[in-house]
Amino acid sequence: MKSFASRLNQLVPSASMAMAQKISEGNFEREIIDLTFGQPDFDTPDHIKEAAWDAIRKGRNGYTSSSGISELRAAIGTFHHHLYHVSYDPGSEVLVTPGAKQGLMYLMQALVNPGDEVILFEPCWLSYQDMILLNNGTPVFIPAKENLEPDLSRLEEYITSKTKAILINNPINPSGYVFKQQELQFICKLAEQHDLFIIADEIYDRIVFTGFTSMSEFDSIRDRLIVANGFSKTYAMTGWRIGYLLANEQILSKVSLIHQHTATCASAPSQYAAVAALQGSQNPVDQMVKTYKERRDIMVEGLSDGPFIIIPPDGTFYAMLNMSSLGADAENAAWTLLEKFGIAAVNGSSYGKSARNYVRLSLTQDSNLLTEAMHRLKNG
Ligand code: PLP
Repeated sequence: MKSFASRLNQLVPSASMAMAQKISEGNFEREIIDLTFGQPDFDTPDHIKEAAWDAIRKGRNGYTSSSGISELRAAIGTFHHHLYHVSYDPGSEVLVTPGAKQGLMYLMQALVNPGDEVILFEPCWLSYQDMILLNNGTPVFIPAKENLEPDLSRLEEYITSKTKAILINNPINPSGYVFKQQELQFICKLAEQHDLFIIADEIYDRIVFTGFTSMSEFDSIRDRLIVANGFSKTYAMTGWRIGYLLANEQILSKVSLIHQHTATCASAPSQYAAVAALQGSQNPVDQMVKTYKERRDIMVEGLSDGPFIIIPPDGTFYAMLNMSSLGADAENAAWTLLEKFGIAAVNGSSYGKSARNYVRLSLTQDSNLLTEAMHRLKNG
């Protein structure tokens, strides 16, 4: 058999899959508390499901316009304006994609030439690296500060003649860090000075416990910015595969070509469901975010007196737990957590070297289970 494409050699299997395998193969004394999930533990709200049923019953089951049904593009434009007072033209500046992830992959395909560098702040979501590598680009990681905050002070030092884009995820999966306005402003300034694209993955923008500033609010970088977002996290719709990109017409017209020749369009019923998500009551979202915040408070308060230190997240439904007190075992803390405490988490090293002494805990389990997990962490 002929060989596979060499670009595959650099890809790393997903850390949460490896953990799932370990759990399924293991023989554990007590029930495992699984804190690896990257998706809400809530179901999609009923009115959203109804809208999909309605679309299916009405026969809206064919291909749609490649960039998305006009109702959805208009609803996305209106909602983004409502949240951030920034306008994107639904006709040319909104592209509906099968999930934010697919949109991000399109962007890498559209922007990255072999050898181009894309700057990422550690700790960051693993898939960015693989998407860049798949397009023969080079991911460039800026190590985090001691407390896992992104180190903006080192950004300029990492910009080279090969840098194509700066990618920020705000709020950050896995740390829950929310960028401050001045930090975003600083990134904009450097992107302008060095003529770089900015990719802002804002998929967790609605799951925040303090204020949030969207990168799109900075007018001066509008023509070099692409925002990726979607419905997976906010509306508990991970399986519906529906997301979108916002950018000026010049950028989106290029990205759309890739979408046209690969996915054609996002799933039609999911698009109608997404319209209902944006136009219907936002109470289910408020309720989910309130619950994540309650869980975060339970974890942060419960773990405040050691032995492991938790970094309080300001957004997302994740939290990073520092396992340095395990000494030499800290780098593979997730395995130790599983063996000793019956808790499944994702190894911090999956998010970059800066997080190697951490694990990512997911707050997508009910508060009784989280309380039990804390109890185990404190008492063994
Ligand atoms: N971006 C980040 C930072 C994520 O954590 C995820 C999912 O885990 C995604 C994007 C993917 O979102 P979607 O389900 O819309 O493809």
